[in-house]
Amino acid sequence: MKIVVLKFGGTSVGTIKKIKKIADIIADYRKKNFRVIVISSAMSGVTNDLIKKSEDISENFSSSEYDALVSSGEQIACSLIAGRLIHKGLESRSWLAWQIPIFTDGLHKNSRISNINKIKIIKYLQKGGIPIITGFQGINSNERITTIGRGGSDASAIMFAKFFKAKRCVIYTDVEGVYTTDPNKLSKAKKIKVISYEEMLEMASLGAKVMQPVSIQDARLNRIDIEVRSSFVKKPGTLITKRSNIVNNKIITGISSTHNDSKVTLVGVKDKPGVAASIFKPLSKNSINVDMVVQNISPNGKETDLTFTIKTDDLNKTKKIIKDNKSINFRKLLFEKGVSKISIIGVGMITTPGVTFRMFKL
Ligand code: ADP
Ligand code: ASP
Ligand code: MG
Repeated sequence: MKIVVLKFGGTSVGTIKKIKKIADIIADYRKKNFRVIVISSAMSGVTNDLIKKSEDISENFSSSEYDALVSSGEQIACSLIAGRLIHKGLESRSWLAWQIPIFTDGLHKNSRISNINKIKIIKYLQKGGIPIITGFQGINSNERITTIGRGGSDASAIMFAKFFKAKRCVIYTDVEGVYTTDPNKLSKAKKIKVISYEEMLEMASLGAKVMQPVSIQDARLNRIDIEVRSSFVKKPGTLITKRSNIVNNKIITGISSTHNDSKVTLVGVKDKPGVAASIFKPLSKNSINVDMVVQNISPNGKETDLTFTIKTDDLNKTKKIIKDNKSINFRKLLFEKGVSKISIIGVGMITTPGVTFRMFKL
């Protein structure tokens, strides 16, 4: 079977008009005799709305109920797509994670897909059906619904491409591909034709929202080529592939930025080995991702300041952990919201001097 996996992001299914448009794209692949597996995200804005509702109910909304709640957006989008395909005379239906099932490992809100049962989907493909599958969700060993992190439908698509040995995995989105920087922020940004998993992973982890970082790790591990392209205009997109497939003489591949970080500083912590670990251990136990760490030189050899960045969503939890943990000693706790991180990415930089100067030059 010539299987293709097509993933549509929230921006591609954000309105009824857009859903009708992508149904035409899906139908075109079917016409060309591909067996099509579709993964869809929720209509844009829906997941954010659901998260907001959970926060309005409780500051400590249960993680398992969070997953049951926020995964519901995908069900709506999938049934609308399937409904449109049926309207066009095609065989299609929506599938929720538990109906397949898609299994996940790990904590609620941040699971990883570990296995997909292929039996029902293969049968459905064989009779010509187009399965429209909810991205972002799975079930765990307790048969509870789990979600796989924000933007997780990208990873759902990659895992389907892996388990079904798809010929192609196409990520349809609202921009024409991966650009040197966010094209919605800088009109001078250039579309990148091909990019390696490694550089894409760096760009994504450092803030390029176009692909979810976990999905790139999964693609790299399983050697799955990804095509990122627009669901609005028919133009070639970006290929994400292994480095040996790429001839590249660029010094810098791209620039990424984040805008929802927070900076935490512990003033006056003991300057001795092991102190930093004692601060980061309880954070790691609570699944808080610490990003940049700076420890100043100690003027008196006894005390120093330790600064690190985290996602602003984790700030309240971090403050509580540090204040409640009696084994962490410091004189003052400072924090700052609304911190941005700007990063330049490119393997060519390793051997090229002067990049830092150019970055900081006005
Ligand atoms: P989807 O709904 O398809 O999942 P996302 O909103 O998750 O779409 O990702 C697409 C958005 O990523 C674009 O609209 C763009 O603003 C943003 N983006 C950030 N950095 C980049 C980049 N380097 N190249 C392309 N898009 C980027
Ligand atoms: N709907 C989910 C989110 O907004 C998953 C996704 O978009 O891929 O995070
Ligand atoms: Mg996305």
